[in-house]
Amino acid sequence: MTAQAVEEPEDDRDQDERHRGREGEFAAVIGLEVHIQLETSTKIFCGCSTEPTDEPNTNVCPTCLGLPGALPVLNEAAIDAALKLGKAIDAEVPDRTRFHRKNYYYPDLPKNFQITQYDAPICADGALEVRVEGESREIGITRAHLEEDPGSLQHARDGRRTSIDAAEYTLVDYDRAGVPLMEIVTEPDFRNPAEVRGFLSKLESVLEYLGIFDAGRDGSLRIDANISMVPDSDVEADGSISAAGLGSANRTEVKNISSHKGAQKALAYEVTRQRNALQRGREVEQETRHWDESRGVTISMRTKEAEADYRYFAEADLPPLEVAERAREIEIPELPDARRERFENQYGLGREAASKLTSTKAVAGFYERMTAEFDPDLAATWVADELLGELNYRDMSIEDVDDRLPEFRRLIELVDGDELTSKNATMVLRAMLDEGEEPESIIEREGLGRAEGEEVSAAVEKAIEDNPEAVADYESGEEGAINFLVGQVMQATGGSADPGSVNGMLRERLDG
Ligand code: ADP
Ligand code: ZN
Ligand code: MG
Repeated sequence: MTAQAVEEPEDDRDQDERHRGREGEFAAVIGLEVHIQLETSTKIFCGCSTEPTDEPNTNVCPTCLGLPGALPVLNEAAIDAALKLGKAIDAEVPDRTRFHRKNYYYPDLPKNFQITQYDAPICADGALEVRVEGESREIGITRAHLEEDPGSLQHARDGRRTSIDAAEYTLVDYDRAGVPLMEIVTEPDFRNPAEVRGFLSKLESVLEYLGIFDAGRDGSLRIDANISMVPDSDVEADGSISAAGLGSANRTEVKNISSHKGAQKALAYEVTRQRNALQRGREVEQETRHWDESRGVTISMRTKEAEADYRYFAEADLPPLEVAERAREIEIPELPDARRERFENQYGLGREAASKLTSTKAVAGFYERMTAEFDPDLAATWVADELLGELNYRDMSIEDVDDRLPEFRRLIELVDGDELTSKNATMVLRAMLDEGEEPESIIEREGLGRAEGEEVSAAVEKAIEDNPEAVADYESGEEGAINFLVGQVMQATGGSADPGSVNGMLRERLDG
């Protein structure tokens, strides 16, 4: 009997060498599947409201409960929202789009299938430009398709909500079933977690400008992140990854990410985990992992289902939809990048200030109303540096103070007219936000107005009297001594005198 060596096929050996551990450096490759809830007043296939309710299972009907015989009717507003997004990301819209059934059993899915799109998504081949650390990168968007949200599960124990592993039983709320979702699938174009974060905030900003997304709604954004590590030798000179590199790297899909920060943290964890495994000569499993936000780790869930498991087939209750003409006609507003550029040109702002001031449509609108009466630079400093910072610190947004714009205007006028120091103005601003009071009454109550006349001249006299050494120094030609005296006067007036005029008054007294 002759033993015969079994030859491994060539291809397999190549495969193995690529992703079985080896020394050297690896580059991260990341692609996203982002689910966003579209902000429409009714659900995608029935007339039920999408408004959040206090009681579960309030916004439901036979269609979104999947009762036998109930038929879907497509919501025009969801189509328009999808087409607006398509235009904003410069996507191709097919002449005809259609819906498919994705079949699987899960208690949040009462029909046992999800109506989604498969071979003719409403948007394909788009892109979004992202800026990270001063560098612009274009992230390709493979496709963006419409589908219905499933219901939501609430895991509970002793009448209280808890995590899935601690739960005794699970409740289901179908209020969310049928809320329109858009799934946005990117190319594997990200090279690090910071770019992912940049993309998500850019996407959110575009969606907010389009008025089709409510970032404040619980669960309105859900992210699945795909990540693999490829050997540096697979990275081309232009930064792209060779097809062989993309195809052969084992990747993980991280689920359950619900925030920008969560995405960045989960991916940073995966980069380290995968790189460590590879450098120690171990293989990265191709699998689905769960992001555990509270522990800051990803956990292996199950092997990924294959597409064939879903038995996709065309949704016969919804006819194909001719969308080309509608797509041509749909109008979208000025988007964040265009508005930023206009702010730079029209108001002479630097790129950073202009970016900050156009981050949301509400902020940009607020700033533009402000500039109607002010030097745009002064308004920019106030809104971008002061107001947004103070709002952010209080977990408030510009919408919360939108109707108080005239009060802010008066506050800036006081600083501009030199009737209030900028330091005191910041204190007034804080009190305005904390107590909802008008600037004038805060200034009056706290005595924050500019110290003038007698109060200042008395403080000047006192500073001269109390500090003979500094006076002597100044008189013997030591210019710096005057600053010390100015400081004394400022201190005595609680910072509310004008340092320039104090300086002048001191010189007049001492030089005279
Ligand atoms: P699947 O059929 O497994 O769902 P897709 O081709 O639809 O795979 O891609 C799903 C997601 O995985 C996309 O966001 C894509 O960018 C990403 N992706 C594809 N290849 C890789 C890779 N090598 N590493 C990381 N992400 C990848
Ligand atoms: Zn319904
Ligand atoms: Mg896919």
